[in-house]
Amino acid sequence: MDIHEYQAKEVLSNFGVEIPAGALAYSPEQAAYRAREMGGDKWIVKAQVHAGGRGKAGGVKLCDDDHEIQAACEDMFGKKLVTHQTGPEGKGIYRVYVEAAVPIDREIYLGFVLDRTSQRIMIVASAEGGMEIEEISESKPESIVRSTVEPAVGLRDFQAREIAFQLGIEPGLTQAMVRTLQGCYRAFRDLDATMVEINPLVVTGDNRILALDAKMTFDDNALFRHPQISELRDKSQEDPREARAADRGLSYVGLDGNIGCIVNGAGLAMATMDTIKLAGGEPANFLDIGGGATPERVAKAFRLVMSDKNVQAVLVNIFAGINRCDWVAEGVVQALREVQVDVPVIVRLAGTNVEEGQKILAKSGLPIIRATTLMEAAERSVSAWKSDISPNLKAV
Ligand code: ADP
Ligand code: MG
Repeated sequence: MDIHEYQAKEVLSNFGVEIPAGALAYSPEQAAYRAREMGGDKWIVKAQVHAGGRGKAGGVKLCDDDHEIQAACEDMFGKKLVTHQTGPEGKGIYRVYVEAAVPIDREIYLGFVLDRTSQRIMIVASAEGGMEIEEISESKPESIVRSTVEPAVGLRDFQAREIAFQLGIEPGLTQAMVRTLQGCYRAFRDLDATMVEINPLVVTGDNRILALDAKMTFDDNALFRHPQISELRDKSQEDPREARAADRGLSYVGLDGNIGCIVNGAGLAMATMDTIKLAGGEPANFLDIGGGATPERVAKAFRLVMSDKNVQAVLVNIFAGINRCDWVAEGVVQALREVQVDVPVIVRLAGTNVEEGQKILAKSGLPIIRATTLMEAAERSVSAWKSDISPNLKAV
């Protein structure tokens, strides 16, 4: 799960990372009011969307007075901001963050990621801040400092000092840099983050180290341990289909094809998508309904898949290990009676009580196309879609 810049800044500042003064606003008037309240003579108005690259796309503006703040906000609120990270559809701007403009001496890139190879949290930093890390690794790869943290001892002072030294931080600011690095590390570890990125982290004219931008991503599977983080979720920034699925406890990723997939288990879902492709089709989604494929879950899955107007056939592929095929078959039958499904439905069941399951499907009188192997199921889905069989006609 991603959160907004202003939220990430608040989280990190609770761990000792210094940030400029700033305030959130939901309207241009409120933004101007918040700036007055804050004081100062220059402010930065920043669109809050779940994407980077806002500066170049007009989502970060320097303002000198009330009027400029209001004008900058008028240009942002209700619009879609398209950056190189949002895709062409962009992301809606419904909140802005007004921040005190700070005098920048140096910009540094600082990132914390999960390095799966070393199974450690890795710090990635560069003295060439202000650019995206992808650009830095293309144009100045030698400037990148990498350092992995040993989990048993955490990020020690000497290691943080070494990073500060490699970045050329002047001695008087080493302690501030160590505090920043340790704050980020602790926030990452304590809150089950998968990414923390501060770009830029700046050294200011008045000799402070401040996070001018902040991005955090959290492990969805650990959110239950952090209700205060779950609350920061902003659904306006998510793919509506994926948000709806997450609300229903299903893991769903929308794709561009037209064969809807309802599968239990992420590995089986991947294999199903591969097999559909092998058979000459294109999957409309990845959908893992989880281990307990109860009738309710199957019905929810059908509703979700059918809400995608591109879907022209639905392939249900369930492997019943602990589960039972007869139970799943009941679920499919119930779901098809409840949810209006006007495209061909192909069902492949395997595992415990498969014969009973098949009988239930056959006896239901519903136009379900049955398949025994995954390949057969994929081929039937593709040919059902291609020949556009109406489900009201003959079931195989
Ligand atoms: P993004 O990465 O989405 O483009 P940033 O928050 O990094 O957005 O802002 C873009 C640039 O704007 C920064 O690299 C920095 O140069 C400038 N900037 C952002 N916040 C401030 C601030 N409070 N004071 C001065 N400059 C800022
Ligand atoms: Mg940035």
